[in-house]
Amino acid sequence: MNVDFTKMAHGLIPAIIQDSETKNVLMLGYMNEESLQKTIETQKVTFFSRSKQRLWTKGEESGHFLNLVSIKNDCDEDTLLIQARPVGPTCHTGADTCWQEENAESYGFLSTLEKTIKIRRDNADSEQSYVASLFAKGINKIAQKVGEEAVEVVIEAKDDNDDLFLSESADLLFHYLILLQAKGYQLADVVEVLKKRQK
Ligand code: AMP
Ligand code: ZN
Ligand code: ZN
Ligand code: ZN
Repeated sequence: MNVDFTKMAHGLIPAIIQDSETKNVLMLGYMNEESLQKTIETQKVTFFSRSKQRLWTKGEESGHFLNLVSIKNDCDEDTLLIQARPVGPTCHTGADTCWQEENAESYGFLSTLEKTIKIRRDNADSEQSYVASLFAKGINKIAQKVGEEAVEVVIEAKDDNDDLFLSESADLLFHYLILLQAKGYQLADVVEVLKKRQK
């Protein structure tokens, strides 16, 4: 690792700590050359604490260590991006991150869509919202809709019209998210099952 510690004030460089699984930013700390060495040796993220004026292994008192996964240097070699697996909450306030956020996995646009579906279910007029109208018809109707869309995907998979295949795939995924919501679940619950199968 080529890090120029002399370039930075007091020989310290910032290290952004990111959860290797959820990709959330957990905290920011400062490192000197020695703390970087110790991090690599012990596989536990170790900073140079400016308030303590000594090496500080995150978790040394609380047991909430940051187990090292990878270290990356930035474009001009003066900021580290460190991926780690946190043992417990990272912030000393007890929050998952130092910005008082939950460290839950996010599925980008699909998570946004899940939220929209929930809002429509809870607030929308079923005459105006298709999603609300589905919830009003009940779970059997929603499950049936998923079945229909799945059959449509099967039919389009046999053809070579890619646009139709993708369009039916989107229909299926959309209605599947609605079914999950109707059963009281989220994509994260299914992903959890898939992850367990990998082990
Ligand atoms: P720990 O390293 O988790 O055993 O915590 C030891 C001490 O370090 C705490 O009492 C806090 O003063 C400080 N500390 C712990 N976590 C953080 C953090 N994420 N950011 C800043 N200071 C922290
Ligand atoms: Zn930089
Ligand atoms: Zn904090
Ligand atoms: Zn369809």
